[in-house]
Amino acid sequence: MKYAFTPEQLADPQLGPAAKAVRSCVHCGICTATCPTYVVLGDERDSPRGRIVLMKDMLENGGAPSAEAVHHIDRCLSCLNCKTACPSSVNYQRLVDQARVHIQEHYRRPLGERLLRWTLAKVMTRPKLVRIGLLLAKIGAPIATILPGRLGAMAKMGLMARPQGPEPLHFPKPAVVKQRVAIMPGCVQGALAPQIDSAVGRVLARRGIELVALEGAGCCGSLPHHMGRDDEAKAWARKAIIAYEQGQYDGVLITATGCSSAMKDYAHLFAGDPVWEPRAAKFAAAARDFAELCTPLAVTPPPLESNKPLRVAYHPACSLQNSLKLNGVGEAMLEAAGFTLTPFLESHLCCGSAGTYSILQPELSGTLRERKLGNIAAAQPDVLVSGNIGCLQHLAAGEGLHQPILHLAELLDWAEGGPKPANLDLPRA
Ligand code: SF4
Ligand code: SF4
Repeated sequence: MKYAFTPEQLADPQLGPAAKAVRSCVHCGICTATCPTYVVLGDERDSPRGRIVLMKDMLENGGAPSAEAVHHIDRCLSCLNCKTACPSSVNYQRLVDQARVHIQEHYRRPLGERLLRWTLAKVMTRPKLVRIGLLLAKIGAPIATILPGRLGAMAKMGLMARPQGPEPLHFPKPAVVKQRVAIMPGCVQGALAPQIDSAVGRVLARRGIELVALEGAGCCGSLPHHMGRDDEAKAWARKAIIAYEQGQYDGVLITATGCSSAMKDYAHLFAGDPVWEPRAAKFAAAARDFAELCTPLAVTPPPLESNKPLRVAYHPACSLQNSLKLNGVGEAMLEAAGFTLTPFLESHLCCGSAGTYSILQPELSGTLRERKLGNIAAAQPDVLVSGNIGCLQHLAAGEGLHQPILHLAELLDWAEGGPKPANLDLPRA
């Protein structure tokens, strides 16, 4: 694509990769069919190709972007389906991440929008504040269920949460320890579903992996990063890196795919910083996703009353498919554990969760969720499984969900002799 970036802009460690992405785009449009927002809205400005033009103009010119450009860039899910589909290897991630930072620094959003984004960045990154939010949502449940728009999306997420037990601080030690891996506490997952990390600890212990809580770390920073708030994202990343450097580990795990893909990209977050870039690169090289550590284990799950094998729909998060490139790994684990997989249409399309997107863009996010749940319902599974807390919470709040929904580790744990997940029996009429 023709561009007018200056040599200085091209040499900038943050802006340069974004400018190179613009240069690589040949405007062929192959990516458009894979873009969830284009599929739903049919507007070129809500396609990767259209957004690339908007972002190019915005970044080339510098200064305050137009409201129109912000509107269409905000509607991008950062699902990166377009990056996977592109035959010219356009690194759309570098472009959209840089565009979000530019908007954050140069565009004055309306007061309500600024307040909402500030609250999301401050509250959702801190489990203690998330727990207070959950409590308020439960107390105000009668009102919360009828709230419209963004407030309704937040309240619904709180109401659907069923945290079981406290956040685990200690994990089972395998008889023979093959690897000792630090586990990040994360943010919303610890408050909404601490049972996930407990299940992960048991599953990995059966494979000789001992988990050790990474003291001093917190959120991975991906939530503020997806809103262009990179100063806050860097502050969280520095905490995690410092905490990891204090011990001797064989890797560092976080049990949400969206977060592990963010941690693996820490080196770019600090690109151009002579002190932090190399430290971030070391941390990123040690970062692991649950799907990388967990090897398939052949077992027979406990029998059900129906005596039929459990039919499982596996929803692969976009971060798993397009960033981590771990396609098929979850499915292989489920099949080894004796479950019958039920494939469904459009499994490559985002469910609409996308970090804070489900709160910031509730209508579009809701449309994508109901489309996803409709495709899943047509496959008639008994249970729905994913590996990302954002997808789990978002799908759980959908009208079209008729099955229990679990993290992959919870179902594997049960199949391998662990406790039955509390919501495996929940009727979803
Ligand atoms: S497929 Fe790649 S080269 Fe073609 S329009 Fe999309 S981003 Fe540009
Ligand atoms: S990241 Fe996803 S939503 Fe954004 S342009 Fe690419 S395919 Fe579309």
